[in-house]
Amino acid sequence: MTTTSPVGRPLRPRGKRLQEDTRRHHRSLLLQQLFREGPASRADLARTTGLTRVTVSDLVGELVGDGLVEELGAPAETRVGKPPTLVGLAADSAHIVGIDLSAEDRMTGAVLNLLGQVQHRHEVEIAGAKGADAVALVHRLAAELIAMTDRPVLGIGVGSPGVVDAGGTVIDAPNLGWTDTPLSASLAEKFELPVVVANDANTAVLGEHTFGETGDGGLMVLRVGTGVGAGLVLEGALLHGHLGAAGEIGHVVVDPDGERCACSRTGCLETVLAVPHLRRRLADAENAPSRTAVLTTAGEQLGVTLAPVVGTLNIHELVLSGPNELLDGPLREAVDRTIRDRTMPVSSAGLVVRTSNLGEDVVLVGASVLVLAGQLGVS
Ligand SMILES: [Zn+2]
Repeated sequence: MTTTSPVGRPLRPRGKRLQEDTRRHHRSLLLQQLFREGPASRADLARTTGLTRVTVSDLVGELVGDGLVEELGAPAETRVGKPPTLVGLAADSAHIVGIDLSAEDRMTGAVLNLLGQVQHRHEVEIAGAKGADAVALVHRLAAELIAMTDRPVLGIGVGSPGVVDAGGTVIDAPNLGWTDTPLSASLAEKFELPVVVANDANTAVLGEHTFGETGDGGLMVLRVGTGVGAGLVLEGALLHGHLGAAGEIGHVVVDPDGERCACSRTGCLETVLAVPHLRRRLADAENAPSRTAVLTTAGEQLGVTLAPVVGTLNIHELVLSGPNELLDGPLREAVDRTIRDRTMPVSSAGLVVRTSNLGEDVVLVGASVLVLAGQLGVS
């Protein structure tokens, strides 16, 4: 936590506050280590975090008391000397409610444990609900999900379409009829729980970064659904951009002679790549070779659009997230080939272009990461 001065610059915390922040930071270090590397002894934790043995023992005791960490006994292979006792994250000590609002026709939700594993699922039909009705629907889904678990709920994470500010207000989400809608605040008030709302592509990239077996280089997740948007994790941090709109690549014009877009421009990336457009063109194609040509053309146009991004940022992984039957095949191959053709070898040599290991759950899993990062400092 930082305090904010009237001119908006963070102030350095002082005195008691500083001690509490240090303790909280040390707790996060331990949780982070157990989260990323699995069970460890107290001595291992001291070595890997750089904290003293006394500090580690003290904080582990506190975390065990809180129920977030559990004693696991000694590893079976230890034969010589006094075996160290391992401690690990208690994955089901608390649950997280994750909500994905990116589908056109329904709101999907899940109860996840502290390791981002789905425990229960639930969804509600949107059925044309907009504005306050759509907010009420999110509240209903959250209430029904909370009722599905008997564990304490650590918080609610929501991946929403559109631009979302740092306070969880949805600035603009046309599909749901939201303009400056304080979704996070209304959920927090109703449920008295920590709530984090973020753009769905940003939520997806956090899910992929934390639970998607990704490397440590730059990661871009391109979400292809009703619309098209991207999320980026660079140098270990989510890229927000000047006004929180980083990754809004869907309305970059890629074909000035193309189709009219919902945003009133012509030939936006969405008109080439969004699922409804792709499916329509595939339905119009007469045979298998022409269907392959549709996907290849879309992949090439995406590659042309992303090559400057790859050249600029030297990202390591480009993950295509959406219906795999559309994305994984000629489309992905065309993106990969086009980016390599249009960038220096040094930019694309280590580049991996793939689909998401988390499949359709990537936003739900990412929503759990929003809460984990905020409440436990792990991500
Ligand atoms: Zn557009």
